Amino acid sequence: MGKDNVYTPDFGGVPKASRLARKERTILIAGGAGFIGSNLSRRLIARGDRVICLDNLETGRSENIAALLAHPKFAFVLHDVVRPFRLNSPIDQIYNLACPASPPKYQRDPLHTFKTCIFGGLNLLALAREKGARILQSSTSEVYGDPDCLLQSEDYRGRVNTVGPRSCYDEGKRAAETLFYETNRQHGVDVRIARIFNTYGPRMDPGDGRVVSNFVVQALSGAPITIYGAGQQTRSFCYIDDMLDGLMALMEADDRLATINDPVNLGNPGEFTMIELAQMVVQMTASTSPLTYRDLPVDDPRQRRPDIARAGRLLDWAPKISLAEGLVPTIAYFRAELTQMQGAATARRAGEAVS
Ligand code: NAD
Ligand code: UDP
Repeated sequence: MGKDNVYTPDFGGVPKASRLARKERTILIAGGAGFIGSNLSRRLIARGDRVICLDNLETGRSENIAALLAHPKFAFVLHDVVRPFRLNSPIDQIYNLACPASPPKYQRDPLHTFKTCIFGGLNLLALAREKGARILQSSTSEVYGDPDCLLQSEDYRGRVNTVGPRSCYDEGKRAAETLFYETNRQHGVDVRIARIFNTYGPRMDPGDGRVVSNFVVQALSGAPITIYGAGQQTRSFCYIDDMLDGLMALMEADDRLATINDPVNLGNPGEFTMIELAQMVVQMTASTSPLTYRDLPVDDPRQRRPDIARAGRLLDWAPKISLAEGLVPTIAYFRAELTQMQGAATARRAGEAVS
């Protein structure tokens, strides 16, 4: 714990002298206990970097980082990015992933979500300036709102409702892009802006509320699959490993590239209706779950598909894993999570019966 929000990251109990002797890069992941952040932590550590995970555990899960806590290259700091903080450590790179990403989660406390985007962005940019670190902002396809074009390129300005239930997230992320961009222009901080399209895979929270986790958990537990609206709205789903490749390529890209501080779409252009996704999940899990229909949430975008030409040009990046391929490890992960949760519930009931 830090005094006055000043933290000295503790790398798995490694003695201080050997810490100082190390030559590895130190990378801060704000939001590192979440779905993308905990997968990214593992990739960076495997590459040889040291990772500081800073998270308030609002939607992130301690299970996601439990196995990393004793690792000599991993340190955890419990902190809300809305509040200023200092880190007694050199920092080479910062990934800002701190923000709830699931609509029901970011709408639970809309003002806090908005503050997370704005004050969190400002606090992390100040840290990047102080440390001379490069910083990547996880922006989103939601900056395009409910698009009126079939393929969204970075030049598309978007169609966002400023006062709808999604605006705390959409407008927060749009304003954060401005903060990052202007900090680059005014202060020369090397910023990277990734517009992430729907991403899925292991380490998503089974109770997250987004469509892939909902459908897979429902299919595996025999519950009705909840289709919002008629299920004809589309999304493009990117598997986590492809997304990590894209994020890391954007972070590592040469700062002499003329447009490297501009926003870059990262996503898989394969486009599916929610009915198609439900049918795939039911078939791949051999589920008997029926489809059930619920109201379409207000301002739910009707279509979404990334134009990834810029990422191809700048980063030589394109996703490799199809939805059918990525769902295999995703389903296996949720199956294991549900088994573990059922085991824990059974043990709890047995304990209650004894006491
Ligand atoms: P997630 O909810 O699993 O992870 C977000 C993490 O940020 C959690 O660990 C949470 O506890 C932490 N966090 C939230 N508010 C915080 C705060 N105020 N202070 C400190 N920590 C805070 O979501 P994710 O899917 O891993 O998304 C990560 C980032 O990527 C988010 O910024 C999200 O907006 C962006 N993104 C994700 C997707 C996607 O499909 N997964 C799409 C577009 C953008
Ligand atoms: N959706 C659905 N059933 C669910 C959860 C979501 O039909 O149980 C729909 C939702 O209305 C949206 C799409 O799936 O059209 C993707 O929703 P998600 O919350 O995953 O992400 P986002 O809307 O932010 O793209």
